[in-house]
Amino acid sequence: MMRAGAAPPGCEAAARGDLVVERPEGLYCPPGDFYIDPWRPVHRAVITHAHADHARAGHAHYLAAAPGAGVLRARLGAITLQTLAYGERIDHFGVRLSLHPAGHVLGSAQVRLEHAGRVWVVSGDYFLAGAADDPAEGNLTCAPFEPVRCHCFVTESTFGLPVYRWRPQRAVFAEIDDWWRANAAARRPSLLMGYSFGKAQRLLAGVDAGIGPLIVHAAVEPLNRAYREAGVALPPTRLLSAVTDPAELRVALVVAPPSVAGSTWARRLGGPTRRGEGQGEGASDAFVSGWMQVRGARRRRGVDRGFVLSDHADWPGLMRAIAATGCERVIVTHGDEAVMVRWLRQQGLQAGSFRTEYGDDALEVAPAAGTDLLARPEPEAMGPDPVEGPASPDTPAGPAQALAAGPLP
Ligand SMILES: [Zn+2]
Ligand SMILES: [Zn+2]
Repeated sequence: MMRAGAAPPGCEAAARGDLVVERPEGLYCPPGDFYIDPWRPVHRAVITHAHADHARAGHAHYLAAAPGAGVLRARLGAITLQTLAYGERIDHFGVRLSLHPAGHVLGSAQVRLEHAGRVWVVSGDYFLAGAADDPAEGNLTCAPFEPVRCHCFVTESTFGLPVYRWRPQRAVFAEIDDWWRANAAARRPSLLMGYSFGKAQRLLAGVDAGIGPLIVHAAVEPLNRAYREAGVALPPTRLLSAVTDPAELRVALVVAPPSVAGSTWARRLGGPTRRGEGQGEGASDAFVSGWMQVRGARRRRGVDRGFVLSDHADWPGLMRAIAATGCERVIVTHGDEAVMVRWLRQQGLQAGSFRTEYGDDALEVAPAAGTDLLARPEPEAMGPDPVEGPASPDTPAGPAQALAAGPLP
């Protein structure tokens, strides 16, 4: 809250010794003089991952985790980029900085900062299976989330309501495979829509590639290439333009960004894809997102199927991640901050929030190295509908006892 004659935003917090404060340009580390995922152009930017709302163009210097270099360049072109291996430490103006896997997308990192005996971690976006510590339930296209002990944890909260609880991903992939198999048996193309960076690769790696050919949109393939070059195993994929035999298309799974819905590109799959417009002739379409758990989301999208699969932690995952840091203080960003802050305070933690300009990865930008048919920015809000979204969270059932912050080692 600003008072008359108060210092500019961030100054009080900096005076307190906070390692990260809010500034108009983005989250700022005062002793290190750098920003983390800034939304305005700055001199020095530490980037948690290459999604468009976190990795913006125009910074003079970028620092990111080495596995993400390829996807960052695929999205931002020629940038001045320094990379760190996960866990590698550098010292910058007395701040010890290291990057640790966030399990969200290829190269995604939590930023650990250590200065004058204090440790802060900025999570960026992260994913870990909420219900149990099961390696098979992690995002298999990137390094798994690694808990990092700290005094203060700056956490995302994209799905920070107790209603968000993901089912095991193997069950979701089995559903997708069943849908694809049934379509293929009926000689209908299967159009599966999800974000071109991260979600598309996770889908390609997770489906049963034995069912039929895998075709991708031109916005997806440059990112597939970056994943393969980083050593991530993806099944063979081809561009739609390379398919000459319509019979092949009728048994294929076509992975494309959400922006193709209703487009001429989608009509190339063999007819109208919208419900009620000649269904049975064209492709069957489906949308994959954590938001598909929200009541009415599939219908509003106008797709045949909605599959709930997110690259963000669900409520139990957020609680498990926070508990694992052993932190005494949590600062919540981009999501349902108020609910989570209230819940954390009830658990005896210091909690607050930062106002950021991060979205939910809905902002699709064209890869710099892309060809034709690039994804357009997504103007449509991807978040829960204010009317039909969850009205009130059910009883939080986080691991309350686990949240008792233990001392740092
Ligand atoms: Zn993201
Ligand atoms: Zn985000």
